[in-house]
Amino acid sequence: MTDELERYRTLRDFDASPEPPGQVRAASERPIFVVQQHDASSLHYDVRLEAGGVLLSWAVPKGPSTDPRDKQLAVRTEDHPVDYADFEGTIPEGEYGAGTVLVWDIGPYRNLTTDDDGEERSVREAADHGHIEVWLEGEKLRGGYAFIHARIGGDEDNWLLVKTDDEGADARRNPTSTEPRSVLSERTLEEVAAASDEDDDGQEDGS
Ligand code: MN
Repeated sequence: MTDELERYRTLRDFDASPEPPGQVRAASERPIFVVQQHDASSLHYDVRLEAGGVLLSWAVPKGPSTDPRDKQLAVRTEDHPVDYADFEGTIPEGEYGAGTVLVWDIGPYRNLTTDDDGEERSVREAADHGHIEVWLEGEKLRGGYAFIHARIGGDEDNWLLVKTDDEGADARRNPTSTEPRSVLSERTLEEVAAASDEDDDGQEDGS
């Protein structure tokens, strides 16, 4: 099967990883965004936008900011299945993206991107044009954000994520530091990792 998720599937062994295999969904009337904290070889935040039945994805080393003066490097990664949005758990050592994942923020979003004539441009098309503007309605992140294909250092995958200066902006909040818990399970990264360890022990003891 060849679709937008082929690269996602090729990189993973679903017998070894608890991640969902997933499939391309029908396009949604009410698309979601998700930000997953990922304690991989280096800690980062994966910011994902549902578009065309998959999650367009960027790895943001410093995480999204609520300060419009920050320009956060956002490295485009492979499209993920929409099912990935509520994935929390630990990808085992030796597997692609090994490390613990938690859902740091999730919610609906609206596409604000327009074309040269002021007509709405779909997020997929906007991604191809290298400029996406969205309005996030999460628990931690609210208001406008822009994804800009800036090709930092000449790298095609390098985008910038910038907060728009609006009522959701707050230069002092710094939620990646002050609000570390999962919005789904209220757990910290350490608690998700500990729960995954217990699951593994249970499997070893039980069979
Ligand atoms: Mn990641």
